[in-house]
Amino acid sequence: MAPQATETEAVVLNCIDHGESDIIVTLLCQNSGRISAIAKGARKSKKRFVNKLELFSFLHISYQQKTGWGLAFLSEADLHTSFLNIRLHPSLYAVASVIREFLLISIKDGEADNKIFSLCLWAFHSLNQNQQPRAILTLFLIQFFDYIGYRPDFDMCNKCNTPSSTTHTYHFDISSGGITCSSCNKTTKHRLSHGTIKILQVAQNQPLEKLQRLKISGTILEETLHLLHNYGRQLFQRDIASWKVFRQLTRT
Ligand SMILES: [Zn+2]
Repeated sequence: MAPQATETEAVVLNCIDHGESDIIVTLLCQNSGRISAIAKGARKSKKRFVNKLELFSFLHISYQQKTGWGLAFLSEADLHTSFLNIRLHPSLYAVASVIREFLLISIKDGEADNKIFSLCLWAFHSLNQNQQPRAILTLFLIQFFDYIGYRPDFDMCNKCNTPSSTTHTYHFDISSGGITCSSCNKTTKHRLSHGTIKILQVAQNQPLEKLQRLKISGTILEETLHLLHNYGRQLFQRDIASWKVFRQLTRT
């Protein structure tokens, strides 16, 4: 019996040409998480997939997955949006590429998480409107680390458990994912201002529909980006390859 078709919304995270006429795509799906699927004949018969299987495109797809097969078979794709602004502006594209890289290194095929899908879509929609791209990345990352189970703790010193307050200075300990107060730790590395701690606490607890209301700029934005980048590198034990281009293209 042929496997049943699954329909879902999906975002394209990767596309690779395969053989003479096929394309293999990596998709983040609303209902089924990350999947890899082959679009047979996609490069020859342009009708079904033309302009759809591009990085970051938001699609409605139909696919079949045979049990035991790694690759799904992509049968149809309808374009919701190709996020044209992201495609046209190098700085927006660079931010979307960092988001894409974090998603690819943290989610395996078959892993599903509706919240991560919504967060990714929120970030791409916000970027496409060109609303403070570096702040969008900050807000994406702070919630993303939470969703994948590595929520940084800014509420109390992770050594003495004293709630964070304005009477101490703090630094972020990237290996534990928490803050330590100036009594427990004399280092000045990854020092955080009170403004940064406050905005990170608010961003962690802000529902997605209100996330865009948070404005982050200046030194607070710099501090948060620096912290989240280093935390991500520590967490995944690797460099974030797209970070360098992102920094070059979005310096203020
Ligand atoms: Zn302490």
